[in-house]
Amino acid sequence: MDRAVGDFAEADVLVEGNTIKAIGPNLSVGEAPEIDARGCLVMPGFVDTHCHLWNTFLRGSIRGDDPARGYFPVTNLAGPLCTPEDAYNSVRFGIAQELLSGITTVNNYAHNVRSAAHADSEIKAMLEAGIRGRFSYGPAGGRTGRVNMADVARLQATWRTNPRLTIGVNLENPPPTGPIDTFIREVTEARRLGAPISLHSFANPGLYEPLQSRGFFGPDVLFIHAQGFTDQQRRILVDNGVKLSMSPVIEMPYSTVRSGYIQFDELEQLGAKLSLSIDSIGASANADFFNVMRALQFSHKQRADTKTKLLPRRIVELATIEGARTLGLDGQVGSLTPGKKADIIMVRKTDINMVPVMDPYFSLVYSGLPQNVDTVVVDGKMLVANGKLTSLDVGAVITAANSSAQRLELQMSKSLP
Ligand SMILES: [Zn+2]
Repeated sequence: MDRAVGDFAEADVLVEGNTIKAIGPNLSVGEAPEIDARGCLVMPGFVDTHCHLWNTFLRGSIRGDDPARGYFPVTNLAGPLCTPEDAYNSVRFGIAQELLSGITTVNNYAHNVRSAAHADSEIKAMLEAGIRGRFSYGPAGGRTGRVNMADVARLQATWRTNPRLTIGVNLENPPPTGPIDTFIREVTEARRLGAPISLHSFANPGLYEPLQSRGFFGPDVLFIHAQGFTDQQRRILVDNGVKLSMSPVIEMPYSTVRSGYIQFDELEQLGAKLSLSIDSIGASANADFFNVMRALQFSHKQRADTKTKLLPRRIVELATIEGARTLGLDGQVGSLTPGKKADIIMVRKTDINMVPVMDPYFSLVYSGLPQNVDTVVVDGKMLVANGKLTSLDVGAVITAANSSAQRLELQMSKSLP
């Protein structure tokens, strides 16, 4: 994913501490222990630029086949019932699945932060699991939620020197009509703290001009879901350096809710800063990043009116280096480059669903599955070896998440069909 380094048919990657020191064939590594990666694609880990990890454990309750049990009815009910312990169980459960899918960095879009204890629980789960990420601190659900900026400042001070964690915010959308002063005040507060902003996109025609004139759109804004924009809205987003995240596995089935097809083609032509995301493991029902890449490929192919040729190599870029760029981490991760942090995955190309691999990019996008992920290294630490998590006890993760899920399902079943 670094064109200056290039791709190798066979090479060594030398890691010292948490840093990539050298890449090339037949490196002399002295006494360093070696990992045999023959039969594997060695590449940077995937970067998931938006995932609501707090609702991973609602996977069995959120039903894609029944609108009455859809994402919003279930999460609106479940949100207030979630204890800090549930949040911890769910985030840890989600990260375990992300790591097994080769995801090494996640923007945890936490929009059910009901107390400081909830925030601490989610961060504890992120740090213990060993993943790299941003904790995007949000309001406690509902349309009028506001972010506790004092608590954001507390977390920034607490974790300022942590090498794997950054703190951002996520905001509720501005009201579709009426004054936007409250929203702008929140944006200003976030910027005063230097906290990058994530929020779900909107296409309300009346909002773009006022928001632009109040200076909202900027490179510190990550806009999620690239659907439903007009020409003029796309221009405003791209001209102001707004980052965009596409979650194709969610966007395709919810295309009617989110106003139409994924505008990858239009945005790519404008040189927009694009990346990929899972969105909600609870709603999409899995954390499979290969599936996310494939969904973008297929949604693009389904359209007859596209002008961009979307090749698998570009999709792998969106899944790695572009994701890192979106989160402001491209100087540290997103490619295998000497000097960058060692966030490395090994994907087996000898498995039955991969053989024969001729073009690795094609095979990753069209054939890859999480079960092909053999090894995952984050910040120089091995978190998955031989396809098994080493940083977490999977049995304990499953038991805790399932116990939280069963309790909530019981409570929610009084109000849901
Ligand atoms: Zn989302």
